[in-house]
Amino acid sequence: MRPPNEPALDLSPSPGDEVKATTCYMCACRCGIKVWLQDDGSQGKAIRYIQGNPAHPVNQGVLCAKGAAGIMQHYAPSRLEKPLLRVGERGKGEFREIEWEEALQLATSWLAPIRERNPDELAFFTGRDQSQALTGWWAQQFGTINYAAHGGFCSVNMAAGGLYTFGGSFWEFGEPDWEHTQYLVLWGVAEDHDSNPIKLGLGKLKARGAKIVAVNPVRSGYGAIADEWIGIRPGTDGLFAFALIHELLRMDRIDLDYLVRYANAHWLVVRNPGGVDDGLFARDADGHVLCWAVAPPPAEAGGGWERVASDPAQPSGSSDGADGTPPQPSPAVAGEGAQARADAIDISPAVVGEYTLADGRRAVPVFQLIAERYLDPQYSPEAVSEHCGIPADTIARIACELAQAAFDSNLRLPIAWTDAWGREHDEMVGRPVSMHAMRGISAHSNGFHTCRALHLLQLLLGAIDAPGSFRYQPPYPKPIPLPNRPGKTRKADGTLDAGPLGYVHGPEDLLVDEHGQPRRIDHAFSWAYPLSAHGMMHTVIRNAHAGDPYPIDTLLMFMANMSWNSAMNTGQTMQWLTDRDPDGNYRIPHIIYSDAFASEMVAYADLVLPDTTYLERFDAISLLDRPISDADGAADAIRHPVFDPATQAGGDGRKRDVRGFQSVLLDLGARLGLPGMVHADGSPKYRDYADYIVRHERAPGVGLLAGWRGEHGDQHGKGAPNPGQLQRYIENDGFWRAEVPEHARYFKMANRGYLEWAQKLGFVGSTAPIVLQLYSEPLQKFRLAAQGHGPHQPPPEHRERVATYFDPLPIWYEPFESRQTEAAAHHDRTGEAAQAVDAAKFHPHPFPLHAVTQRPMFMYHSWGSQNAWLRQIAARNYLYLHPDTGAKYGVADDDWITVTSHHGSITVQAKFAGNVQPGTVWSWNAIGKRRGAWRLAKDAPEGDKGFLMNHLISDITPRGDYANADPVTGQAAWFDLRVDIRKASDDVAASRPRFAPLGFAEADEAPLRYGGALRAKAYRR
Ligand code: SF4
Repeated sequence: MRPPNEPALDLSPSPGDEVKATTCYMCACRCGIKVWLQDDGSQGKAIRYIQGNPAHPVNQGVLCAKGAAGIMQHYAPSRLEKPLLRVGERGKGEFREIEWEEALQLATSWLAPIRERNPDELAFFTGRDQSQALTGWWAQQFGTINYAAHGGFCSVNMAAGGLYTFGGSFWEFGEPDWEHTQYLVLWGVAEDHDSNPIKLGLGKLKARGAKIVAVNPVRSGYGAIADEWIGIRPGTDGLFAFALIHELLRMDRIDLDYLVRYANAHWLVVRNPGGVDDGLFARDADGHVLCWAVAPPPAEAGGGWERVASDPAQPSGSSDGADGTPPQPSPAVAGEGAQARADAIDISPAVVGEYTLADGRRAVPVFQLIAERYLDPQYSPEAVSEHCGIPADTIARIACELAQAAFDSNLRLPIAWTDAWGREHDEMVGRPVSMHAMRGISAHSNGFHTCRALHLLQLLLGAIDAPGSFRYQPPYPKPIPLPNRPGKTRKADGTLDAGPLGYVHGPEDLLVDEHGQPRRIDHAFSWAYPLSAHGMMHTVIRNAHAGDPYPIDTLLMFMANMSWNSAMNTGQTMQWLTDRDPDGNYRIPHIIYSDAFASEMVAYADLVLPDTTYLERFDAISLLDRPISDADGAADAIRHPVFDPATQAGGDGRKRDVRGFQSVLLDLGARLGLPGMVHADGSPKYRDYADYIVRHERAPGVGLLAGWRGEHGDQHGKGAPNPGQLQRYIENDGFWRAEVPEHARYFKMANRGYLEWAQKLGFVGSTAPIVLQLYSEPLQKFRLAAQGHGPHQPPPEHRERVATYFDPLPIWYEPFESRQTEAAAHHDRTGEAAQAVDAAKFHPHPFPLHAVTQRPMFMYHSWGSQNAWLRQIAARNYLYLHPDTGAKYGVADDDWITVTSHHGSITVQAKFAGNVQPGTVWSWNAIGKRRGAWRLAKDAPEGDKGFLMNHLISDITPRGDYANADPVTGQAAWFDLRVDIRKASDDVAASRPRFAPLGFAEADEAPLRYGGALRAKAYRR
């Protein structure tokens, strides 16, 4: 009881007068947030506090620094307030404000003739937005093939590597089994991908004592709490994975039964060197893939698996056995057994050997090829150790630990389930090893194969969607390859026959002309980058400037800071954006850009369409795009306006006059009369994006949101549009989630319960099992084309490249920049042709250090740049190097140094850090700013001492023959960078290069005083 005279204390006061639950957009994780509002007595409600939503499936109440600082994003002085029309030279940042009607009429006047003349003259490229389900569809309706989202310069190697291998991928497509995994390997994961979900998961692992291994040249963020840090040399992750695979094969510590049940280990590959069918799967007359059945099903199989791996000479790898006996390829056993359909279940297929098919051709099981390749001594720990910078005994130990965790843990979940073939099981056997990987391994020119190597490693351990392993998040897994191919031709109404992005199945799906030359402005889906599933944002400005393969008229961009931190070769990119032809016209005639803030790219636009903040509009976080599902449930979400922007004061005190880009896009589409966006009488079909979210159907019953569909809102997944759908989401804190039934939670690729559930919700077309592809036939089809087979063959200049890099099994090669700069230096010294000594080891390397950027936990790319609270964590960056590296190069802590690559030089301040392997230097990405951008002060530390590594990174290879990108997918090879360093002169005290400040007005420091009035009001209550 409270003693008399003591004041009554409210120990848990309400943070505000009103609360709205929506979805965070301070990074790409899409956590649920509760935005608390309070009347501030001046402009109405203001944000008092942002809280993590405890009920939300993504973050379960956790909020990171970025999420909390969303207040400063919403009130950032750098917000754009009205449409802008350029008045000065492009690139200066000089504009006049115009009304929306004028802006939309102007945009329509540029776009309408293009659609009439040739829709491909519009290049529409978006950054890390979350509305690709709309933007891709809009481009399809416009009819341009020149559309892409940000994945090409982000992590398409990861996505494509996974989707072409096991029908899923890391991050937004899957997650470690946080409840059961005993061993987690983080490959190349920086702090931003992903954020709160992985933090929650890592906390569970730490509490349980599971081991976490971080493979990364830099130990920061998640690596800092890992039990073991492996400071790998950048670009050698694939080689490390091969050595682990080598050891697992050598020890016979692999899950052969898993590989035959769920993957294509037993599928027969035709061996016919030089033949048109070499390397393709052997098929019967009806097109069914064949295997070699060597024995009838073992009687003891009982109600278990009838289709089990057969290699009579060897024990199954998942048995007890680390007996050191490698599974040796056995000689052909013609006469024993017979060919059979690989999908038959009453057989015992061979996984090694060579066989003669009924038609006389020779063929080998996929696993035979795997054993042949990765048991080669070149992949032994001793052989790769120096190259990877990892001691051989560490590699061997990690392989043993992986095997022990996978096979000796005896994880069994007592969950009865039925497989895709109708057989019942009374438990689920686990393989508690999981992996998570991100841009560190994928942003290399060997990234696609490195990602495939990781997946091969997972598959050999039986560690995909088994209890304790990596788990699919619905709507994944998907068929391999995904059925949607990129659109190629225009229909009579001008629309494209399919979405502009997709998954090629073979050479016939490429977007090339009759001479094999690129049809897209970014050269995606050409022979140079055939599997560029997300397009190639990083090539579009160079090519648009050069008119390669043709000039475009308008570049339309959204949320992509392409004149700064999102561009390689940043300095020249700015020149391309402003360059004029001999007649004085800009070589890229029109640039339309939409952004919420005065970023560097805004200065290069002719017309700026100001976007809202994420608290001022509707958004759909759709299962058709990048969902927020978890392994136990399918989920999607919305954002809804916490504020009407017209009620919000801008930086200069005036009410804001901004519109959500998605609504603007639909408005433009209606003005252009695009099919799907207008009624028969030409009137707009959709009022705005919110209306589109509710009423648009991609296929009958399938819309952007899966929850509360149907006339009465009682259907989920598929159903007619429900006019009250958004309200139902708002009432449910902004999200919808459907729980995967317990018996359907693992082995989703071959779990009848899951496949039926997924089909009902529209995630898969059938309940047929999805066979995981250790060996990729689509890749072999490209290789055959390069070897001169088939009607679609690459032009001569691409043949060797395609034949080399389209290997159906993962390969490793030195990243292009390392190899080519080394070869060029060798040539300079010896005069030998650089090509001839391509793989030569030239010591010292002319650029002896690797250089990488890490994404900070506290800012997401450049999004936090103007955030007054996040800037207090870091307003400038340093180049971090190991003290031993400093000593070697005569550099002291805090010295200014010149960093040189084959492409350029920057001058930056050095800082010693012990968290990096000595052969690598690193920095935070996107902290450095162009002076004047984001309305920062002209002498702000971001522009004065901060810097971008991008100035060192070329957008083309050192040889200049291709984009600085992966040869399979076209992903930007950001992390291939090689540099040299030397101490700068003593009078240097600012970073270089320096560019003229942009013309945006400087903001004052008022946001730092934010909240005073609200606090005072709270105290008065
Ligand atoms: S992790 Fe990302 S989405 Fe989640 S609260 Fe932080 S910034 Fe927001």
